[in-house]
Amino acid sequence: MHDMTDRHEVIVVGGGQAGLALGYFLSRQGRDFTILEAAAEPAAAWRQRWDSLQLFTSARYGGLPGQAFPGDPDRYPNRDDVVAYLTDYAGRFELPVQLDSRVRSLRQVDGTYEVKTDDRTYRADQVVVATGPFQRPQRPEIAERLDPSVRQLHSSEYGRPEDVASGPVLVVGGGNSGFQIAAELAGTHEVHLSIGSRQKPLPQRILGRDLFWYLEATGLIRKSTESRIGRRMSGKDTLIGSRPRTLQRRHGVRLHPRAVDIQGADVTFSDGGSLRPGAVIWATGYDSEYAWIDAPVFDERGRPLHRRGVTSSPGLYFLGLTWQHTRGSALLGWVKDDAEHIAVQINQSAPTESGRGTQEGQP
Ligand SMILES: Cc1cc2nc3c(=O)[nH]c(=O)nc-3n(C[C@H](O)[C@H](O)[C@H](O)COP(=O)(O)OP(=O)(O)OC[C@H]3O[C@@H](n4cnc5c(N)ncnc54)[C@H](O)[C@@H]3O)c2cc1C
Repeated sequence: MHDMTDRHEVIVVGGGQAGLALGYFLSRQGRDFTILEAAAEPAAAWRQRWDSLQLFTSARYGGLPGQAFPGDPDRYPNRDDVVAYLTDYAGRFELPVQLDSRVRSLRQVDGTYEVKTDDRTYRADQVVVATGPFQRPQRPEIAERLDPSVRQLHSSEYGRPEDVASGPVLVVGGGNSGFQIAAELAGTHEVHLSIGSRQKPLPQRILGRDLFWYLEATGLIRKSTESRIGRRMSGKDTLIGSRPRTLQRRHGVRLHPRAVDIQGADVTFSDGGSLRPGAVIWATGYDSEYAWIDAPVFDERGRPLHRRGVTSSPGLYFLGLTWQHTRGSALLGWVKDDAEHIAVQINQSAPTESGRGTQEGQP
């Protein structure tokens, strides 16, 4: 049924923390907007993460604009705390989130944007894409060669140790997810961790204070990609609160370098070593999925071209990208900075009062 057209000044695609933070500012502007969310429940991305996930940012740095994260500011919330917080946030500020509304296409028509879900067509003067920095699970090509007798899953599909068959488990990926999952599984399984490229380990706490306290105090968290130090930082991934040696000594996890080949059930590493695991967990990251957007705002690799989320297509924005502007851009406690920036752009580009909120077909 594509006969109904809903008109809004602004459509936000994605109702995660980025979409909600923007919603807060749009609502304060009194703007006519709606947030289209693909999932049937709020905080969908967090719900899909593993049960024991603990944040690397403390509650002090977990709040979106207008509402602090509840509880002791020095605690490290878990997945369910974030789900509860985001769900409450959307309700508290009465943000117009429409669930079960996956956007299938976005294109420019007659000077406005046409946004289509399965059963509705929307028109908006301005659109913000806040569909998350971690969309499509990524696995290396060698994963395809793994014998089907070995269970393999992506970190986004991992829930808890009981779901992983007994026997040696190979976790591939030396980032925060790989380290957290390997440490948890080590309580019940023989665990191997393959680290393709070493990330710089940073302690979670230094002299009794959280790492992010220092990043705030020194201003590093707000250094933008336009600064030299920001560019340098954005090129390096960091491992927060974990160290290869601790994982080895405290949890008995065996470390391997990059997994370079798979023949049948055998995985070979770059040092020539090999392993026949019972299960493989690919903690190898995500990429983006923007095939549904028909606008000239992507580079040859499909990455959004933007300046702090503002694209060259008037009225089209991105929000929540990793390093969209600073290290904080894709983090709960700092996404508000970019959200506010986009809200200001939206306000400046909004047509005059008389043109606002008119229904399709009406003057
Ligand atoms: C394992 C892991 C641990 C993390 N830990 C922390 C942490 O400790 N602290 C921290 O600050 N950050 C952390 N992050 C980073 C970041 O906070 C999260 O990734 C967060 O979920 C990003 O929020 P978002 O709103 O940008 O995207 P998402 O939360 O991914 O939300 C995007 C929403 O858009 C919806 N969507 C997607 N496509 C469409 C479409 N076509 N139409 C409609 N809706 C759509 C999705 O259903 C989703 O609800 C972590 C990330 C990961 C992966």
